[in-house]
Amino acid sequence: PLSYPANFITQKLDGRLDPASPVITRFPPEPNGCLHLGHSKALFFNSWLATLHPGSHWRMRLDDTNPLKESPAHAASILEDVDWLTGSSTGGPTGSSFLSPVTYTSDYFEEIYAAAEELTARGLAYVDFSSPEELKKSRGTLTSPGVPSSYRSTAGTPEGVADNLGHLAKMRAGTYPDGHCVLRARINLASPNLNLRDPVLYRIRHSSHPRTGDKYPIYPMYDFSHPISDSLERVTNSLCTLEFEDHRPLYDWVLQNLQSPEASASSPLAGYPTPEQTEFSRLNLAYTVMSKRKLAQLVEQGVVAGWDDPRLPTLSGLRRRGYTPGSLRLLCERCGVSKSDSVTDIADLENAAREDLDKSARRAFFVEEPLAVKVVGGGGGGAVEAPGHPKDPSFGSRTLPVSDSLFIARGDFVDGTKESGALPKGYKRLALDQPVRLRHLGIATVASVERDGGGEPVSVSVTLDKSEDAKAPGAIHWCDAATSVPCEVRQYDRLFKAESPGKETGEFLDDLNPDSVVLTAGRLEASAALACVSHLGSDAKYPSDLRFQFERMGYYVMDDDATPEKLVFNRVVTLRDTWGK
Ligand code: ATP
Ligand code: MG
Ligand code: MG
Repeated sequence: PLSYPANFITQKLDGRLDPASPVITRFPPEPNGCLHLGHSKALFFNSWLATLHPGSHWRMRLDDTNPLKESPAHAASILEDVDWLTGSSTGGPTGSSFLSPVTYTSDYFEEIYAAAEELTARGLAYVDFSSPEELKKSRGTLTSPGVPSSYRSTAGTPEGVADNLGHLAKMRAGTYPDGHCVLRARINLASPNLNLRDPVLYRIRHSSHPRTGDKYPIYPMYDFSHPISDSLERVTNSLCTLEFEDHRPLYDWVLQNLQSPEASASSPLAGYPTPEQTEFSRLNLAYTVMSKRKLAQLVEQGVVAGWDDPRLPTLSGLRRRGYTPGSLRLLCERCGVSKSDSVTDIADLENAAREDLDKSARRAFFVEEPLAVKVVGGGGGGAVEAPGHPKDPSFGSRTLPVSDSLFIARGDFVDGTKESGALPKGYKRLALDQPVRLRHLGIATVASVERDGGGEPVSVSVTLDKSEDAKAPGAIHWCDAATSVPCEVRQYDRLFKAESPGKETGEFLDDLNPDSVVLTAGRLEASAALACVSHLGSDAKYPSDLRFQFERMGYYVMDDDATPEKLVFNRVVTLRDTWGK
């Protein structure tokens, strides 16, 4: 289960009148793009809070109030990502699944409209026919107060109320074209907080909605629909990121006016609780971008292959890259929750992945840039057993077939002698006069080398000593030529060269790292390849559910592009932190 250190929000909960009363939170993404790592911070924290007090839960709500920017496809991808991250359908890592069913802000359009009527009837909202430019001007600037439009002055009079109710009804009936008028709250045009200068509550958009169709030609603004939806869902604590701090007075204004003693008995929030908004800092990750807008730009301009490109910090990208829900959870717990903005290092994300994968990834031999090795003088047949995991016997063992033809990585052989000083300092692997241990198999000593016309080694003949007391300075991995399977491996680097893309250049796209992916070919041991093929043939949801440690190299995951005929892997992370080295 999740665990966070105490923080300003848990302190607030402990300080309640009844500190044991249930806490109801919600996670309310807008279906206008894919979820990213930042969202996992909000999701994990909201779901964790709902585990602390008996009777608590968290709700999954799609905030679908702008059909022009939103799509059912994004909604579906969000729900898929949430399911993956929380294991809601598979008993995954949060230990806290949301209270089904999923809700939509559009479920409450009728109540939200009734709230608009309620405020209008009390002179607290009015329909303004000013042009968008006039509207903007009427709200003033940081240094000058707003100027009331002629529509404001009559809002509080009985005739004004009747007029405004009539206009509101016409807005809803579709009488007016897009942008013809808006419904504004009547608050305070001189407020130092610009959000309180008669903000727009409803605007006209003759646009079909995926769930409500053409029923409503008007759509509520976030600041209006959000407090209403929270209250209707009996949310106690509405958590959001710091940029909404300035919006809190408006959140409270809406609730207060819909729940005050003056509110009519038919106020949609009569009898509902008053949620409290609290803001915490966003999660930012170095060397990448996290806003949906910038992510969309990368996808639309073809800089990356799609929303699930393994280099992106989208949840689908992270999943495809091989990050586990558990590793993202670990990262979010370690980042904690506070009021101060910070940037998380990629190293922290990678360390969380290493920690999780060290326990959960089975071991395998993958030979990169294979160099042929011929075993001469006998000892090359049969098979050896190797553990599936060095520390966890539950992984069982794997069989490594052995023939006279093997492969080792080209990088594990130096075509020179120690004697002549040709070996790099501290080099412990195979050389002409230096034996090496082929892990689980025996000690290989070079007998001869075959070279091509350019003098490049094409194959090395070795003798194999399997005796207990045979020794060599180092050990390497290898695979059998006859049974190993050729496959592709994609090694990723950060997507941007700059820690904060665009900070210096003004354009984040100028900071792209041109070498963010390198493809290599190699050979994978038979038992791992077999596991991959059977995973592909199973009803497992994602190829990326199958992760390995390719020994001495790093953690790898099967990519979505893999087929039984051609296996493809992504490198999740190297074995050690290599940042800055
Ligand atoms: P973006 O700016 O990337 O589009 P958003 O804030 O508009 O993100 P929503 O879909 O409205 O995204 O967010 C759903 C929830 O996730 C909100 O409560 C929001 O505060 C939270 N959230 C979004 N981004 C982050 C982040 N980087 N760190 C923490 N929480 C986040
Ligand atoms: Mg948003
Ligand atoms: Mg947004």
